[in-house]
Amino acid sequence: MYQLFRGWIPDFPAVALPLMKTLPPPSLPAAILSFDFDGTLHDPAGNPPVPTAFFEVIRRLREEKQIVWGINTGRSMPQMVEGFVESRFPFIPDWVVAREREIYLPNAFGRWVPHLPWNQRCEKEVHGLFKHARKLLDRMRKEVEEHTGAQWIEMEGEPAGLISRTLEEMEWIVTRITPMITVEPQLSWQRNSIYLRFGHRDFQKGSSLSEIAHLYGLPAARCFAMGDSHNDLEMLDPAHAGMTACPANAVPEVTAKVLANGGLVARGVHGEGAIEALEHFFSEK
Ligand SMILES: [Mg+2]
Repeated sequence: MYQLFRGWIPDFPAVALPLMKTLPPPSLPAAILSFDFDGTLHDPAGNPPVPTAFFEVIRRLREEKQIVWGINTGRSMPQMVEGFVESRFPFIPDWVVAREREIYLPNAFGRWVPHLPWNQRCEKEVHGLFKHARKLLDRMRKEVEEHTGAQWIEMEGEPAGLISRTLEEMEWIVTRITPMITVEPQLSWQRNSIYLRFGHRDFQKGSSLSEIAHLYGLPAARCFAMGDSHNDLEMLDPAHAGMTACPANAVPEVTAKVLANGGLVARGVHGEGAIEALEHFFSEK
């Protein structure tokens, strides 16, 4: 099974990476597109996992609408690069947000370079918060390990997270830790099916998208975001994206949020839904 948070397993793929580049950049970017990867663009059962037609639409919108685009994912950067290869991306995006908070930009050779001002600030804040919240995290770990079969994760670059056995078990865990975490207002978590990653309230997919928008000098109104799961909720907020969408396979909470903000719930699943959303927001009527 393709695990969403495989960044937790330190196995950099032993594949020869082809030279992958971005499309020539637009002279004056006019909109930013932010896509979640797994479950939104990528369907593990699809062949190819990301529809070829998706890239054709991106290429066309690049020329006609001066869009820039990126992937906003829970994956680590190495696992995202593996995804580009596996899904046979004909060109790479203009930016990646990895582990829901780290920003990477490709250089002229297609190598992914960390956006240091943001990433270093993020790392410093997260480190300080986890040090401060150590006792609370230990209490939550004890609670989870006493009452469930979920696995607690602590490793380099991943200070705290867990993997439950079932969705029901994750629901139980979330119900249990929600009141516990209120004593530490800056501590939050990102949830994606049976995976949960603790983090800093101010560093998630939404704030990361706004930092990207800041780099391009564009307002939230010119940002489009699309996702399918709980860890996409922040970027599907009008504070970060004026145009929002989800595929038909999104979890109910995401569908509800997109509808509440006048976004598009696609009829199609995964990448087909993404194509539909792009036509909805960016094609001439
Ligand atoms: Mg997803």
